[in-house]
Amino acid sequence: MQRTPIIAGNWKMHKTTDEAREFAHVVRSLSPDGKVDTVICAPFTSLNVLVQELQEYPVAVGAQNMHWEESGAYTGEISPGMLTNLGVQYVIIGHSERREYFAETDETVNKKTKAAFAHTLIPIVCVGENLEQRESGKTKEWVREQVLRAVEGLSSEQAKQLIIAYEPIWAIGTGKSSSAEDAQDVISFIRGTVEDAFDAQVAAQVRIQYGGSVKPDNIATYMEQPDIDGALVGGASLTPESFLQLLEGA
Ligand code: PGA
Repeated sequence: MQRTPIIAGNWKMHKTTDEAREFAHVVRSLSPDGKVDTVICAPFTSLNVLVQELQEYPVAVGAQNMHWEESGAYTGEISPGMLTNLGVQYVIIGHSERREYFAETDETVNKKTKAAFAHTLIPIVCVGENLEQRESGKTKEWVREQVLRAVEGLSSEQAKQLIIAYEPIWAIGTGKSSSAEDAQDVISFIRGTVEDAFDAQVAAQVRIQYGGSVKPDNIATYMEQPDIDGALVGGASLTPESFLQLLEGA
């Protein structure tokens, strides 16, 4: 089964609309080779400008969060339909920063994942352990539970399109990336978990990224691993130069 790797930038709470436009202008130099899917996940305020500026280019646009309801009295929230209407194609769900600071739970992650598919958005569902869990040998038990809860109620057809980002929390923004071998070990375990939840065919198709201090100089080590299908990248996605280098390295 050939899976197309996917490199997604996660800008987090960075960049004004003007800065996003400038970034898009530089990234337009990207020549499409079709070998890697490319996504920029930006703050809500920059989604429209990125969709407009990158329309003709092989770079898709993603959001970093959304609500699961279609509309309603949810002050400050953004619905899945609002994103698809803009031309957004992907959405990050359950990033560890949202789980930690904004009370996201496995239950809200599951609701949002289902809502994403209902609106033809591709969810990038984040899972990963903290340092204490890693050090006490609980990584696999923890990510298995996160994955199983996230995919509850999905059809096999939906699950095949799912993207899972394995992001050990201790590696995010710290410069201490997981070794490629350790990341491969957990990611192949996640693929096995998807097989348990669905079947071997779904497991062979689901794309699983690594995230956590991925840089242009280490991305190739992850891409070489048989089960790692790309990366979710924070800090190193913030300048167009380093973003383009990541794509070259992939
Ligand atoms: P980082 O962030 O690449 O800056 O470690 C990754 C992420 O949080 O998605």
